[in-house]
Amino acid sequence: MINSEQRLATVLTATRELRERGGTIPGADFYSDKIAAVWTRARNAPAYAKLGDFSWEAFTALEVTPKNRLKEDPWEFFAATVDDGIKYYETTGTTGQATPTPRLVDDLVWNTVSVAQAWQGMLREDDRVLSLLPSDIVPVGDLVATVCEHLDLLHARAYPFATGISDWDRLASLWTTLRPTVLFLAPGVALQLTRLFKQRGLLTELRASVRTIMLLGEVSVPAMRARLGQWWGATAYNASYGSTETGTLAAACRHDRLHLLTAANYCELLTAEGLTDAHRPGTGRLVVTPLNLHARPLLRYDTGDDVVIGTDCPCGTATPDVTVLGRGTDGIQIRDVTITPHLVEQVVYGQTTATGYLLEVAPDRLRLLLERDVDADRETEPERAAAVREAFRDRFGLDDTEVLFLNSLPSTTKSGGSQKSWKRSNIRILEAS
Ligand SMILES: [Zn+2]
Repeated sequence: MINSEQRLATVLTATRELRERGGTIPGADFYSDKIAAVWTRARNAPAYAKLGDFSWEAFTALEVTPKNRLKEDPWEFFAATVDDGIKYYETTGTTGQATPTPRLVDDLVWNTVSVAQAWQGMLREDDRVLSLLPSDIVPVGDLVATVCEHLDLLHARAYPFATGISDWDRLASLWTTLRPTVLFLAPGVALQLTRLFKQRGLLTELRASVRTIMLLGEVSVPAMRARLGQWWGATAYNASYGSTETGTLAAACRHDRLHLLTAANYCELLTAEGLTDAHRPGTGRLVVTPLNLHARPLLRYDTGDDVVIGTDCPCGTATPDVTVLGRGTDGIQIRDVTITPHLVEQVVYGQTTATGYLLEVAPDRLRLLLERDVDADRETEPERAAAVREAFRDRFGLDDTEVLFLNSLPSTTKSGGSQKSWKRSNIRILEAS
């Protein structure tokens, strides 16, 4: 991609700026200058064409751009044409409708450099990276590959669902040659991979080289990362957080927290009191102005994600950390309680060694089906089931949850992809019995 002096200059500018500012919260002048440039680019898009001249006052008076508006009419937000781009992606939204996402060289360079710098502390020069992320259509596979290129790391891509090229057998054989030290994959794929290698008696051998598991593509909870880390004798991290629309918004630190990439995004928190910058502790919806988007600049974009901002991470990084609670629309109402994937998975993976789950919800009962681990000790299951029931009672006030262990769950509960809808994949709504 870097085939001209001009493009090389972009790489060097991005590297310099992000090296200087990365890991810090830049000052007001920096944000003002960067947002002024985003604003100017955004005015080329129909959605922002009516904006007046930039001023900080004009920016802070601007209403948020709701996620749905972008989803409903994505072309309104393009400041460039598809032909200006060098890569064409689409998001695979949970609604089933694809959002076109062409990227210019500038988009790709800035995001790669930003993420590479953020992950630099997590990766070593002698790491061998295996990416089990999808390479087609969605950008995540390319992102990991270009970050590895930028950091000069040996890497291979092997998405186990790439029919005709890569499957589980091929993966196991490639593994023994590459001996990966770092895995990049979605949490659902990590669970399937673990089961499969256990079933084949390969886990002990294949896990030996692995020291780090970088999870991305879906929200994962600490209990699941701890469980994966234990199975693999490695440390599992929530690698990053962001979306195809925004680019990467936060990246992992060694303490397994996600730090906002505040040199690449201006982050705000939407609360009952309105919008405030997301540099202090708080809870609300994350609203972002990515500073380096070119094809589709966004101003005050409401991510739809409920987050908690913290500033006490023991790693000492000056940027705030963010816990993503999931989409505001992700929760389901059971009696008077709202249950979110975050809460359920924290219980499932914290209390049991299950490799998946399905929550069946009927008006008069609640049943949690747990997928038994390959080498599970069945004698401990009544005790584990009791612990889950107790957690559901203590945390959600639901005191009649039925808990069952099964050998395997329907494949609809496995993601296989980079994104999934929790309500569709892990919840089954039933009639009253
Ligand atoms: Zn940290």
